[in-house]
Amino acid sequence: MDDTLWGTRNTRGEWTPHRRAAYAPLLDWPPRPAATAKWFVHGYLLPWNAVYAAVAIGAYFVATPSTATMREFAPGWIAVVLVRNLAIVIAWFGLFHWRLYRRRHQDIRFKYNARWPRTSDRFLFGSQTRENVFWALVSGVPIATAYEVLGHWLFANGHVPWLQWSSNPVWFVALMLLVPLWREVHFYWVHRLIHVPAIYRRVHALHHRYTNPGPWSGLSMHPLEHLVYNSAAAIHWIVPSHPIHMMFNLVHLTMAPAPGHAGFETIELGAEHGIDTGGLNHYLHHKYFEVNYADGAIPFDRWFGSFHDGSPEAHAAMKQRLAARNVVTTEDASA
Ligand SMILES: [Zn+2]
Ligand SMILES: [Zn+2]
Repeated sequence: MDDTLWGTRNTRGEWTPHRRAAYAPLLDWPPRPAATAKWFVHGYLLPWNAVYAAVAIGAYFVATPSTATMREFAPGWIAVVLVRNLAIVIAWFGLFHWRLYRRRHQDIRFKYNARWPRTSDRFLFGSQTRENVFWALVSGVPIATAYEVLGHWLFANGHVPWLQWSSNPVWFVALMLLVPLWREVHFYWVHRLIHVPAIYRRVHALHHRYTNPGPWSGLSMHPLEHLVYNSAAAIHWIVPSHPIHMMFNLVHLTMAPAPGHAGFETIELGAEHGIDTGGLNHYLHHKYFEVNYADGAIPFDRWFGSFHDGSPEAHAAMKQRLAARNVVTTEDASA
């Protein structure tokens, strides 16, 4: 594909799409039913959430121990869940990394930053990617698995109420559809919390080392950040749901950071087609730090004045906001 039709690359090598990062029409006023219906299918369900739901449902039926087994904590079944989650993460993040960064299948077409992730002594094992894989597999997957194991144990013992497909299929489906929105609400507030300076310095600064992120950067966080990030799954300890909802929530938490940090606007599929990652919004967060804390359909950043859509106007507004707070941007500092 010819990315010059879709965006421009400046002299610093930064590629910006012509289209702006935008919110879904879901909460627009006055309502836009036709646009919302279109977004619901091609934006909300497809491509990504449908994949995460399918993986969660498949993992539940094929690679989750029986409810009877999970009534008591035991190393055997916990190991099964851990290995299954490691396999999902290695396959999913590995696929993005292999195609875009190892084979460099589309070189830097649609890549926001012309440079490739660095090898440097700043990073564990001398490279950003190796550091990313380390934190993702050593901290990210085990902590997400701990939430899942605890959830299964609560469900298996009847300590949390089950929502059964047979008794309430409509609410069962509705809850599946609400999971990604709940993720956004939870992520926005948790993300604001870890940007509080004292917590930022000790915890979230690790994730922000990656101003030029790759797919594996998405799950590369401080263990305390993994703990609060994955706590979105704790809602199933309170709200009646089914283990499939909990697994969809956790699969979403675990898999969504790959396209979100891929560093590419579009992943090419053949000469004519591509899949949009939806990654611009969060790429700008990694680049400028104080913008776009949320991601997705609920316009938190617009409501709270931290939205950056990639345009020069939004950039000027951000600089004005930061100047009012006496914050020097990395851009000013390097200029
Ligand atoms: Zn990030
Ligand atoms: Zn952040």
